[in-house]
Amino acid sequence: MGSYNDTSITALKRRIYFFIFLFALAGALVAFGLTESFSLGSAFSRNILILVSGYHLAMMLILWFFKTPLRFVEVSMAVVATLALLSVFYYALNGEHEQLSTQFALVNMYLWMPMAYLSIFLVFEVQRALLGSSLVLLLIVLLSLPHIIGTPHGTNALLGFTTLGQLYMSNAVIIAALFFFATLQKHVQSARSVAAQMQRLAHTDALTGLANRRQLEVLIQKEIYRVARYNKPLSVIVMDIDNFKLINDNYGHDTGDQVLLRLARAIEPGLRNSDSLGRWGGEEFVIVTPETDLSQAHKLAELIRRRVAGYDFGHGRQVTISSGVAAYQPEDNLYSLIKRADTALYQAKTAGRNQVASQGLAAEG
Ligand code: GH3
Ligand code: MG
Ligand code: MG
Repeated sequence: MGSYNDTSITALKRRIYFFIFLFALAGALVAFGLTESFSLGSAFSRNILILVSGYHLAMMLILWFFKTPLRFVEVSMAVVATLALLSVFYYALNGEHEQLSTQFALVNMYLWMPMAYLSIFLVFEVQRALLGSSLVLLLIVLLSLPHIIGTPHGTNALLGFTTLGQLYMSNAVIIAALFFFATLQKHVQSARSVAAQMQRLAHTDALTGLANRRQLEVLIQKEIYRVARYNKPLSVIVMDIDNFKLINDNYGHDTGDQVLLRLARAIEPGLRNSDSLGRWGGEEFVIVTPETDLSQAHKLAELIRRRVAGYDFGHGRQVTISSGVAAYQPEDNLYSLIKRADTALYQAKTAGRNQVASQGLAAEG
């Protein structure tokens, strides 16, 4: 799983959108200034620019001062961009101007139309985006077709056919390309989440949801690298349910599974955040306790043993565990450390079960 949570992504998006609006506002104002000073713009396009600038400014203020749902910001962004471009297009075709300024207005519009599709694909899910941008293209065709058909003679018709025809084609290509990349990205994302899921499953015990043996080994190895470097204590506790076979035999395998599950729930509250609990296999569990020496770990194991012995496992019988404790010693590796804890566990079993034994440095509790 990534290190970003939803709120930090949202916060990041807010900031990005704020700057997008800022740049868009600056762009609109520059366009406004240019068209005004060279008196290129029509009253209509001036109004559109003013409206769009107002929208950008409003959005910036909203993003800055309110916790508006981002969805609203995103959808409005796509809708406003599309509507603005479509209205400019409509006016370029139908407004009262000379041939040259029509061409000028249309060329501008050709340049910016991809932005509408882009914003639609950024904001909506692939299928919807395809539908939405196809509708926009259809609108473009419907708005401009009368122009081609309506001017059957002379250069106008030729111009109409070539430029508008190219507009249709290029927009269709852009939509297809966006659809292609958005679909590709969707597949990559789902493949990633499947991979993450499998990664998680590979490290998790299916019954208890605890770390499995593979994960425990990785954890212990990591801790060993750490203590070997910083000279800190590290202990492991291996726990094994006493006479678990009898529980299975007397109450059935399902009850046995329930006992395993409840044992995990019984142990967890006794641990610190830095401790790790996992299922080593069968009815054996392991606790890894960093910053804990042998006698402290022994005390912890004893605490857990007592908690388990008094815990209600739901089938009306007491369940007990035996534990073996070992502390890391210089030269230890993962296997030698576990092996010592296992030897201690064996001692606890042979000494009568429902008890804790330690192996390693000096004092035992
Ligand atoms: P001891 O006190 O010496 O540990 O005796 P024990 O009966 O607990 O030990 P033994 O190793 O003889 O038996 C362990 C049993 O645990 C045998 C096996 O069928 C059972 N077991 C292992 N994994 C599971 C599991 O996932 N679910 C259930 N229900 N039983 C399991
Ligand atoms: Mg066992
Ligand atoms: Mg057992």
